[in-house]
Order: sequence, then C-alpha cells, then structure tokens
Amino acid sequence: MNRDAMLAQLKEQQIFDIVIIGGGATGLGAAVDAASRGYRTLLIEQYDFGKGTSSRSTKLVHGGVRYLAQGNIKLVKEALRERGWLLKNAPHLTSVQPFIVPVFSWWEKIYYSVGLKMYDLLAGKLSLGNTLILNKKETLAYLPSINPQKLVGGILYYDGQFNDSALCTSLAITAAKHGAVILNYVKATGFIKEKEIITGVELEDTLANDQYAVKAKSVINATGVFTDAILHMDQPTHELLVTPSQGIHLVIDASHFKGNHAMMIPKTDDGRVLFAVPWQHKIVVGTTDTPIHVIDIEPKPLAEEIEFVIEHFNRYTNASITRQDVKTVFVGLRPLVKSNNIGSTALLSRDHTLVVSPSRLVTITGGKWTTYRKMGQDAVDNAIFVSKQTHKNACRTQTLAIGNELEKQRAIESIIKDCPALAELLHPQYPYIKAEVVYATRYEMAITVEDFLARRIRLLFLDAKAAIEMIDLVAVLMANELHKDSNWVLSQKHSFETLAQQYLLT
Ligand SMILES: Cc1cc2nc3c(=O)[nH]c(=O)nc-3n(C[C@H](O)[C@H](O)[C@H](O)COP(=O)(O)OP(=O)(O)OC[C@H]3O[C@@H](n4cnc5c(N)ncnc54)[C@H](O)[C@@H]3O)c2cc1C
Repeated sequence: MNRDAMLAQLKEQQIFDIVIIGGGATGLGAAVDAASRGYRTLLIEQYDFGKGTSSRSTKLVHGGVRYLAQGNIKLVKEALRERGWLLKNAPHLTSVQPFIVPVFSWWEKIYYSVGLKMYDLLAGKLSLGNTLILNKKETLAYLPSINPQKLVGGILYYDGQFNDSALCTSLAITAAKHGAVILNYVKATGFIKEKEIITGVELEDTLANDQYAVKAKSVINATGVFTDAILHMDQPTHELLVTPSQGIHLVIDASHFKGNHAMMIPKTDDGRVLFAVPWQHKIVVGTTDTPIHVIDIEPKPLAEEIEFVIEHFNRYTNASITRQDVKTVFVGLRPLVKSNNIGSTALLSRDHTLVVSPSRLVTITGGKWTTYRKMGQDAVDNAIFVSKQTHKNACRTQTLAIGNELEKQRAIESIIKDCPALAELLHPQYPYIKAEVVYATRYEMAITVEDFLARRIRLLFLDAKAAIEMIDLVAVLMANELHKDSNWVLSQKHSFETLAQQYLLT
C-alpha cells in the first residue's frame, strides 16, 4: 500500500462506484466490503487510518454483557456472531481473553452466573469457552491482585480482544488488495451535485494542499463523531444525529494487576462498567462515559475522569496507584446516536444507525468496533440500492481473511537481510525493531512519526514517555524512506513530543 501510487490511481479513475468518507472501523469495513464485491471504491481519511475513535477503544471484541442486562438480546446475539467471525478472519490481531466478574453477595453470584451463562449460550457454535462459577479461593487464584474483602466468588467468562488501530491498517491493506483506492491525509471538503443529487466529492490532499474532484455514483458518510459535519456539508439544516460521549483509559504496568485474567466490574457507583484488562504486557483500565459538546480529534481527559478510574481500580484491587503510575492516558469519543428524551449518554443506543439523505448520501454511525463488518455491509447494500447500481458479487466478508501477516513477516526479513543494522531495537525496554519503521513507511502508509508510534506500533498508547524517547530514531529512519530533510525531522519531533505530553499525567 503506497500513497503516491494511490494518488496516481485517484487521478486516473474517471468515476468511482462508491466513495467512502472516513477511515475508521466503519469506513474501512465498508471499503473492504465494497471492493471485495467488485465495486470501484475510494476511501478517504482526513488524518491517519484509525486516528479517531477507532484507535481509542477498550480493545474488546465483545457481545456487550451490559446490553444483555438491558434486555437487548438481538444486539448481543449479532455482536457475538461478529465477534466469532472476526476472531476467525483476523487471528493475527485478535485473541480470546478470559474475564472474571468478582461477586460480593450470593444474590450477585446467581444474577451474574445466569446472565453470563446466557451470554455464552447466545454465542452458539461461536462460543469462546464455557462460563464457570468460581468460589472465593478460585477467584483469588485467577485474580491475585483483587481486594479479597467481602469477596464471595466470581464468574469466569470469555470474550475477544484485539489491536484496534492495527486492524484498521490490516483492513486498509485488505481493501487495497481487492482494488480499492485508499488514502490517508485526504479530506472531503464539499459535495458536487446535479439536481440536488450528489454526483461527486471535492477533496483536499492535506499534505500537499492539492485539491481534487472525483465523480461518485454513491457516497457513504462513515465519519464517527464528525457525522454531523458531513451531514451539514450536504444539507446545512440537517438535524443533529450524534451525541458524543467521552471515555478515558489509563494504562499501567502489569505489576499492579497480576495474572492473565481480566476483571470486569459490571456496575460501579454510578452504574458504569469498569474493566482492567491485560493488553500488550500492560494493563488497560477504564472507562468513563462523559457527555461532551466539543468534538476534538485529540480529546483531553477530565480530572474527575482520571480520579474516577484510579479510585475505582484501587477500591477493587490491592493496588494503590496514583497519577505517577499511569504510563499513558488515552481518550476516545463514542458516536452515540441522539435521542431527545434521555439525559445520560450511558443509556443511548449502542446499535448502529443508517440514514439516507434526499441527496442519496448514505450515513452510517453508532454501533461498535465489534460490529464494523455488519455496518460496512449495511452501508454498501444501501449505497448500491439508492444509487440503483447493478449488483455485482454478493457480500463475502463473513469469511474473508483480513491482512497480510505472512507477507509482512517476509518483507521485514528481507529488509533486515539487505541491512542487518535494522534488526536493532528501537528502545531497550520494548521489542520493536528499526526494520518495522521501514516496513510501516514503505508498505503501511505511515506518513508521520505519530502514525508509526501511535498506530502502527502502539507505544504511545502503552508508554508515552518511552514513545518520546524513540522520536529521534524513528524520525530519521522515516525521513530516509520518505526523502525528507532535517527540517522535516525537527518538525516531526516537535509535533510528536507536543502530542505525547497530552498522554502523560505527570
Ligand atoms: C472509550 C471507548 C471505548 C470503546 N471500546 C470498545 C470496545 O472495546 N469494543 C468495541 O467493539 N467498541 C468499542 N468502542 C466503540 C468503537 O471504538 C467505535 O464504535 C468505532 O471505533 C467507531 O468507528 P468509526 O469508524 O465510526 O469512527 P472513527 O473511528 O472516529 O472514524 C471516523 C473517521 O472519519 C474521519 N473523518 C471525519 N471527517 C472527515 C472528512 N471530512 N474527510 C475525511 N475523513 C473524515 C475522521 O478523521 C475519523 O478517523 C469504544 C468507544 C470508545 C469511545
């Protein structure tokens, strides 16, 4: 996947069957779906793939135990099916994660064991393992860091886990493999219309400041919390669809929470779910659900959110972490679909919503990462229908393999063979090597130091200080690949360091 080659294709292509705005989970899912069915597909992302919400999730491929408690069986069943398929289609980026819900009364034990047995049953053949009821001793063996006071036992159940932004890259590569034109750092700036119907999109390459106009038979708006901005670009009087809700995660060293099992607290003081999940040799703790009114691509954590997560983690474990123990804080915005009668965002629908505008713009939003494939399928089905395009192949994504893991390993080996010094580590405490920078720049469209450190490897999300310590090496290696000068290296160092400071609490 090479950006210059993609730009050349953009200039050559007379007309696209489907143009997708937004390179997060939803847009990339739609691009894989459309391209693998044989439609001429273009996807544009204004920043990097996954820079928005799709790199900031709790990293769970899940049916949503919480939605079961709300009685939303259909949503849970659909998500469990999607969970099973994703684990099969992208084994290199997903895994099975055991969870334990600690219980503090007999009533809780019965309630959660019934619920979690049902959760497993609903997964049917795609179950990831049997739900088990544990006594106190067993619970303490699986969760050695849990606070034993008042503990009665626990329920063990299984869900999926994944690397969210790496899946974005893999989906982009998969769509490209099926012929899609996929571009990061290209923004949709306007629509071209004939008789009120969208017939094309105006684009800006934000790196070169070049403007383009492409013809499109249909356009999909998959822009997450930016959905309303695109709807207004189409129709300035459009009613607001999305209510953003902020969620933060703190990442701490694994020494604060030992073992391989994750902890799930279904109901904290204010009714939220709290997770402590082992991920990439660290522990991810979160999250919050705070309604917000300003949409920022780099949202900031609120002091009370940080306090909430630290206080609850310490309450349920033997740890006594402080802000100093936090290696990284990362923040995401949920694109929840608006309901005019509800005060709390925790109650808004997590199901996805699809809207077709009079201009034939197809907007898809809401949902969750786990259901990205189904969202992509629904968006493409509707785009084809409203633009009256002839049907090509049927949707194939239920069984379509995602990514190019084997090719990647071979390419990295070949980079090292050509230059053995590239096998060196980038940081003494982490396993990443220099050849990965070269690979990501050559084949994964990493354009900035941030693209590499935040989303191709996940160091900004695991240890922001270590990520800052790597800037020099990464910037120089990337400059070499991209034929950039020392001014570029300096400006990359400055912008990444400024950004990474926001992920640090000290
Ligand atoms: C705190 C938190 C935890 C979560 N945890 C989980 C979880 O564990 N499991 C799960 O299944 N789900 C989870 N979710 C939900 C999931 O992350 C989101 O539903 C999903 O990432 C949304 O993807 P998206 O593609 O719709 O939006 P985004 O990822 O935000 O993508 C939209 C993209 O559109 C781009 N864009 C906007 N305007 C333009 C334009 N004019 N031109 C070009 N591009 C544009 C943006 O830059 C952005 O990258 C979580 C969400 C949050 C906030």
